[in-house]
Amino acid sequence: MSVTAIVLAAGKGKRMHTDVAKQFLPLGGKPLICYSLDVFEKSKYVDEIYLVTGEDAIEYCRNEIVGKYGYGKVTDVIAGGKERYHSVWNALAAAGPHSADYVLIHDGARPFVTEEIISGNLEVLKTEKACVTGMPSKDTVKISSEEGYVTDTPKRANVWNIQTPQSFEYSLIYEAYRKLIVSEKEVLAKGIQVTDDAMVVENFGNSKVKLVEGSYENIKITTPEDLDIAEILLKRRGL
Ligand code: C5P
Repeated sequence: MSVTAIVLAAGKGKRMHTDVAKQFLPLGGKPLICYSLDVFEKSKYVDEIYLVTGEDAIEYCRNEIVGKYGYGKVTDVIAGGKERYHSVWNALAAAGPHSADYVLIHDGARPFVTEEIISGNLEVLKTEKACVTGMPSKDTVKISSEEGYVTDTPKRANVWNIQTPQSFEYSLIYEAYRKLIVSEKEVLAKGIQVTDDAMVVENFGNSKVKLVEGSYENIKITTPEDLDIAEILLKRRGL
């Protein structure tokens, strides 16, 4: 069984309001992106890693991340695209249609992924073709109209907050993404916002997507207060 990980670090991180992209901000003495790379590098399940970053950060990543911290499993550093789904497709296209049996797609802005989460995903892939990490929502979730009025309240027991990794049979996700890119114009015209990988399978993959529990600590660093929470989580883990 061969497993590829795609680690995404090509976002601009506008909601962080810093000059440095959030994935490279220092956390506990090293760039934030290193925490998830450490986990995939040490994982007994993962064979190779594609790191995706902005065109202007490729050299920095090659020298100051991959070289400096010795990530031997990183096969290549790929230029990302405008949207997250462009970045994922660039990595899948660079790896090619038959790169591995399975692929784990992970937000580099989630430093607290663990080996247990990775093994939990791969366990599910023994019987399913697609699964996404998430946790049951603690909050009640409302659906709103464009004007900001409540239009629906889904039953909370069925609402999950979705995290990464999102994990797939490689050929399934490759083909689903290829179809998305081919029909991108129509997708955009329908006003669909593609914000995760499961959506691509839901729309183009012809496969069910299984939910698998991650952890409430597997947060995405998005806004400044997330960094304070990350510092606390680091201390708790003794990192
Ligand atoms: O923007 P968001 O917080 O949803 O980004 C999730 C992950 O996707 C981040 O790790 C970010 O760096 C990555 N991303 C990317 N290419 C983009 C946008 C986001 O690799 N164009």
